[in-house]
Amino acid sequence: MLEGRVAIITGGTRGIGLETVRLFKKNGADVVLFGSKKETVDKALKNLKEEGLIVKGYYPNLYNYEELTNVMKKIKRNYGHIDILINNAGISANKKIEETTVDDFANIMDLNVNAMFNATKAVVPFMKENGGGVILNTSSMVSIYGQPSGVGYPASKFAVNGLTKSLARELAPSNIRVNAVAPGITNTDMVANLPKEMIEPLIKTIPLGRIGQPSDVANAFLFLASDMASYITGEILSVDGAARC
Ligand code: NAD
Repeated sequence: MLEGRVAIITGGTRGIGLETVRLFKKNGADVVLFGSKKETVDKALKNLKEEGLIVKGYYPNLYNYEELTNVMKKIKRNYGHIDILINNAGISANKKIEETTVDDFANIMDLNVNAMFNATKAVVPFMKENGGGVILNTSSMVSIYGQPSGVGYPASKFAVNGLTKSLARELAPSNIRVNAVAPGITNTDMVANLPKEMIEPLIKTIPLGRIGQPSDVANAFLFLASDMASYITGEILSVDGAARC
């Protein structure tokens, strides 16, 4: 479904991002994953190689627009074009407002929103040069309903939806589609790090009767990145088993 395309996936070293790297590679894309540090990038590339999947990786500072632009230039030199960006790196929060510090709130907005803006701003000129592209963002089901603690996380994901819908309209004339996937509770380290007492009752309320798997989200990204979604832009696609937290 992605033969000949070049895809960059941030937060590609584990969880949803890593599963999306695998699926895109198996569907013919050249994939470049971004991680936060050398060790985790090297480990992911080694594991993928053992699975027969050759992928490139970088660890640019997502808070630094110039650094991101330089890495995009390298990718363009290697492959000739950049077709797909998935802004997937993210962190969550679950503390009540009294325990949330000003820095906690700023940190979550910095990665989930500002870094997404930086990577998007850095890739758009390359996509315009190509005559088009696809930008996909990882939102969350909490971007629709909020959540009862950890306000920085839903606040950041509401902003992700705002970036997605607005840039879809701004970039459509340049043939760049912008969509988001809004996963429900998905079986990754992010959920493993939350208290069991918080997560287990939530899983019981999911109408489809199970936690989401990273592959459920990766499949949605594959569809949205492919030409099957060529008339879809500005959408927030829920992949949550009809969960409402
Ligand atoms: P994860 O913790 O397994 O993966 C997070 C990824 O983000 C990792 O690859 C990590 O390297 C990267 N990352 C974290 N901090 C970074 C930094 N400072 N710089 C660069 N990269 C950084 O979690 P996941 O569940 O795979 O999360 C991926 C995305 O899915 C996130 O945006 C998250 O908000 C979203 N999401 C997850 C769930 C869930 O239940 N797991 C639900 C909804 C949305």
